[in-house]
Amino acid sequence: MATVKNWQISRDMEYPYDEHRPKRQWAIIFDLNKCIACQTCSLACKTTWTSGKGQEYMFWNNVETKPYGSYPLAWDVRVLEKLGKQEWKKNEPYYGKTIFEGADPTEKAVHFAPKDEDWMYPNVGEDDCAGTVVAGDHISLPHDKWFFYLPRTCAHCTYPACLAACPRKAIYKREEDGIVLIDQSRCKGYGECVRACPYKKSMYNTYTRVSEKCVGCYPAVEQGYQPMCVQNCIGKIRIMGFVNPPWKARNNNPVDYLIHKLGIALPYYPQLGLEPNIYYIPPIHADRDYLAQMFGPNVDSAIAKYKKLKDDPVAQGLLVLMGSSDRILHSFDVVAGQATGYDEKGDKIVSVPVHEALVERPAFDAKNGTIRNNTP
Ligand code: SF4
Ligand code: SF4
Ligand code: SF4
Repeated sequence: MATVKNWQISRDMEYPYDEHRPKRQWAIIFDLNKCIACQTCSLACKTTWTSGKGQEYMFWNNVETKPYGSYPLAWDVRVLEKLGKQEWKKNEPYYGKTIFEGADPTEKAVHFAPKDEDWMYPNVGEDDCAGTVVAGDHISLPHDKWFFYLPRTCAHCTYPACLAACPRKAIYKREEDGIVLIDQSRCKGYGECVRACPYKKSMYNTYTRVSEKCVGCYPAVEQGYQPMCVQNCIGKIRIMGFVNPPWKARNNNPVDYLIHKLGIALPYYPQLGLEPNIYYIPPIHADRDYLAQMFGPNVDSAIAKYKKLKDDPVAQGLLVLMGSSDRILHSFDVVAGQATGYDEKGDKIVSVPVHEALVERPAFDAKNGTIRNNTP
């Protein structure tokens, strides 16, 4: 194995191929405090990409209720149990094993293969804060009544396990945007990627007999537009952009700002070692131990900083830019209460007020003799 740098775990690690970072890296940030599990994103993706034969149970974008929801069934608990208990102390690199380092010598990664029926219940556990579907070493039951919604796509990882495991070399990472794709003509349907991806975002099509996965909406991205699951997000909880590693972070890049400058958007299960490129602003109300096993030991400081954003007009401006345009924002600024996003050339795409005027109308309109709502 080669030795590569993984900044998310603050150390070098082993990976089957040499380190190669693409020219730009596709990334999505999700504010989990705002997701309402409307599943519009899931359907936006489904109607765009997976309405064909053999794709009936395929959701490249799904939204699961944590801790009891999961698609496929118990993917997270099973991966963590396979890897075995590891430790990650605050303010230290992660010294536990990644899925590459913990693998048997004959394998590329610690893995498991979901059964067909594990894919059949994408909404299992939805809105459930006291279920019993999932249990394991990593979550103690019963627990206080909390849950949160976790929208998930392929993370177009910097070190993809799907790519590492493919014996046909049918999976590749694009130089221009870091999107990870399966070459459908090379794939022979061995399913090694389905087994190896710990996030279970590579899926087998029983009709075409090859594997498929989220394509990052590359045709839209090539035209400067954000993916369909981002464009259609009702809660405006998402922003897609190109993330830089910390040593190249640009403070006027929206995603760099949230991930590197503010440190409020964290990768999920970074300890698995893939350097995933979907990032989450953690929910402020959920159990901290649970969140720490999912987002790493910086979760407390990320939540503390998020709670202080009311005193930070630039960050507030950036949060209102989320969901304000279909286009990819390459840079932004916040000046005189106005947040503005720009394209790659520096041309203005969108401008929104940081604070919108709030108008409260009295329930009874005396001028017109009208009651404005049905509960005056
Ligand atoms: S569309 Fe947005 S708010 Fe709705 S479930 Fe998806 S991520 Fe959450
Ligand atoms: S999330 Fe899974 S399918 Fe997507 S790039 Fe990473 S390892 Fe591959
Ligand atoms: S990026 Fe595109 S292909 Fe991937 S989950 Fe979102 S809508 Fe689906």
